[in-house]
Amino acid sequence: MTIRLGCIADDFTGATDLANNLVRAGMRVVQTIGVPKQPPAADVDAIVVALKSRTIAPQDAVAQSLEALRWLQAEGATQIYFKYCSTFDSTAEGNIGPVTEALMAALGCDFTIATPAFPDNQRTVFKGYLFVGDLLLSESGMQKHPLTPMTDANLVRVLQAQTRRKVGLIDHSVVARGEAAIRERVARLRADGVGIAVVDAVSNDDLLRLGPALADLPLVTAGSGVAIGLPANLGLAPTSTASRLPPPGGLQAVVSGSCSQATQRQVANFIASKRPALALDPLRLSTDSDAVAKALAWAEPLLADGPVLVYSTAEPSAVKSVQDRLGVEAAGAMVERSLAEIARGLVERGVRQLVVAGGETSGACVQALGISQLQIGAQIDPGVPWCHAMADAAGGKGLHVALKSGNFGTDDFFSKAFGALE
Ligand code: ADP
Repeated sequence: MTIRLGCIADDFTGATDLANNLVRAGMRVVQTIGVPKQPPAADVDAIVVALKSRTIAPQDAVAQSLEALRWLQAEGATQIYFKYCSTFDSTAEGNIGPVTEALMAALGCDFTIATPAFPDNQRTVFKGYLFVGDLLLSESGMQKHPLTPMTDANLVRVLQAQTRRKVGLIDHSVVARGEAAIRERVARLRADGVGIAVVDAVSNDDLLRLGPALADLPLVTAGSGVAIGLPANLGLAPTSTASRLPPPGGLQAVVSGSCSQATQRQVANFIASKRPALALDPLRLSTDSDAVAKALAWAEPLLADGPVLVYSTAEPSAVKSVQDRLGVEAAGAMVERSLAEIARGLVERGVRQLVVAGGETSGACVQALGISQLQIGAQIDPGVPWCHAMADAAGGKGLHVALKSGNFGTDDFFSKAFGALE
């Protein structure tokens, strides 16, 4: 068994986003958390290695990315996809430029592309400028991001500041004319010594026209949008079998540590549907060392009758008062730890279909469950697929998990997710 496409993502939810797009375009995909020690858990066409390298020191991001590259090459990957954020999140030092440069050197390739375009998500690139909806990146709010402020929307300039390779542009007039025109422009740019070309794309049609022109590049760097045009190069077309997971079984539960508005509505909807729900009080968690055990004792007798919900989800005023008492970081870490222990306890009690709400909460739960690889299934709502994973907490056996970050999903997500699995 060898994979075709090997992907390196610079954060966890971005990896899932990419995996989801590849599955929808017809690939069978496993996402790994960090660089795995073992071979992939399933027979797949693509693997997405999720790193947490977006804002770490450039030399660390390079080292981790090269380790991922070596593992993917050993698994047979013939093309490498470096995935970053669709808002091109990076600091003045990187890490998009340094990682791209290091991957090019390791792969011995002198040319690649860069485009965060993801039209389905309102990210478009025109004349090298990145738009978020109707706004330039630098006017979209991203100019004030706490870790990666993006104050320039011109991606050629932004990327050139991060790399020694010459950066060029394949503009929309070329992309609109399709594969032959793109290939011709690539040849011209190469002759001019350009190593990385930013590519315009304002629609999915642009990305689908770009796809075939990338077929023989050893390295592609992009947001998740470009993924829709690559599986066809391998003779793959959208099919329901790409998202097929092992059959579901076991008990059902939801753990929610997200306080985003969509999650608040989802919690209210679940409670209104008369399903059992237990609210965790962060202040109680901080003083009662039995709080986790009590939550599990509450859940255990209810599980046989259908899904239960354990949540810390609260309104902004309640969250603020907890943060004022405990500190923002300490409150977050404590709630995440408690929910992760509860998730593990639920799985140890037979839960095999688990929905987790919250990006950070999901990271904590995946770690506590002892999950290192996720096979990606069909999406429940845009950006949130069911996944199947081997988990230490399940005695090394399989479990279905859906990891829902913040504002994703319809109001009835917590109920509908289980229906979608059947
Ligand atoms: P989202 O995807 O909605 O941003 P995350 O899980 O990433 O959700 O982040 C939510 C953060 O808020 C986590 O660190 C979580 O532990 C913390 N948190 C959850 N509930 C509460 C609460 N009631 N009070 C204070 N902090 C909370």
